[in-house]
Amino acid sequence: MNLIEVMERFPDQEACISHLEQIRWQGKPVCPHCDSPDVAPKNETQEEGKTGRTGRYNCHACRTSFKVTCGTVFHGTKIPLQKWFMAIALVVNAKKSLSSCQLSRDLNLTQKTAWYILTRIRAEMAKKTNPIVLQGIIEADETYIGGKPRKENKKEDRVPAKRGRGTEKTAVIGAVERGGKVVAKVAEKLTGRCILEFIQSVVNIKESKLMTDEFHAYHEIGRQMKHHVVNHQEQYVDGDKHTNTIEGFWSLIKRAWYGQHHHYSIGYTPLYVAERCYIYNYRNLECIFTKFVNESMILPKGNDCNE
Ligand SMILES: [Zn+2]
Repeated sequence: MNLIEVMERFPDQEACISHLEQIRWQGKPVCPHCDSPDVAPKNETQEEGKTGRTGRYNCHACRTSFKVTCGTVFHGTKIPLQKWFMAIALVVNAKKSLSSCQLSRDLNLTQKTAWYILTRIRAEMAKKTNPIVLQGIIEADETYIGGKPRKENKKEDRVPAKRGRGTEKTAVIGAVERGGKVVAKVAEKLTGRCILEFIQSVVNIKESKLMTDEFHAYHEIGRQMKHHVVNHQEQYVDGDKHTNTIEGFWSLIKRAWYGQHHHYSIGYTPLYVAERCYIYNYRNLECIFTKFVNESMILPKGNDCNE
C-alpha cells in the first residue's frame, strides 16, 4: 500500500483500531494479561475529554484494562495510529530509506517524534526477521558505513583518505543467496573466527558454494565448505564467479546512508542495517505494509504489558 491507499483505507483512529483488533483477535477480544475472553469495552466517557472509541477494554477476570496495541510496536503511543500507518508505508516504500527530518515534514510531527517512530519501526523489523538459512550460491563480503562520506581525491589531499578495512567506520558483514535473501549485521571484529561463525549461522554450508573476495579472513570458512575466491586485482566477473549481488546490496545501503543518515551516530547502525535487509528480503511481496502490520500483531506467548 502506498500513502494514498493507507489514508483511504484507514481514514481515522477508529478504522486503524478496528483493523488491528481484527488481525489480533478476529472479532473476539481476549485479555493480554490473563487470556480471559471475559472482557468488555470500557465506557468511553470514563476517559476524560476524549470523544470516539479509544479502544480500551476492561477485563472482568483480572480487573485490568488494555488496548489492542498492548505489547506491540504501537504500545503506549499517543500518536494517532493513522500517522503510524503512514510512517510504515513511507518506510517500506522508501528506496533510499527515510530520515526523521523527512518524516517529520511529511507527517507534520516533531523531529523527535518522527525519530521515535522510525526507531520503533526499525526495531520491529529487526525483531520480525525470522531466522534465515541461505542455500545455493552465496556471496559474502564486508563493508564499512558511518562517518563522513569519503572525500573525492583532490590534488591538495596529500594523504589519501583511508577506505575499507582499517577505517574508523562500523564494519558490517553480509551474505546473500543469489536470487534470494540477504543477512547482514554489524560485526565487532572481522577475524576468520567471527566470519566463520557468521557464515555457519546463516548458511547451509553443506549445500552451498561461497563466493568471496581475497580477504584472508575467509580462508577459515573456506576450509569448511566449497569456496571460490574472486580476485578483484585480476577480474571482477568470471562467469558465475563474482560478488556483484552483495556489492549491489552494499551500494543500496551506502546510498541510503549518505543520502539520509549522515548525521546519525554509529550506535544506530544495527537497526538501520536491519531495515535495509527487511526491505530487500521482502522486495517481491505484493505489500510489505500488510506484512509488517499483520506481523506486528503476532506476539510471543507470555508477553505481558501494562497499557
Ligand atoms: Zn485479564
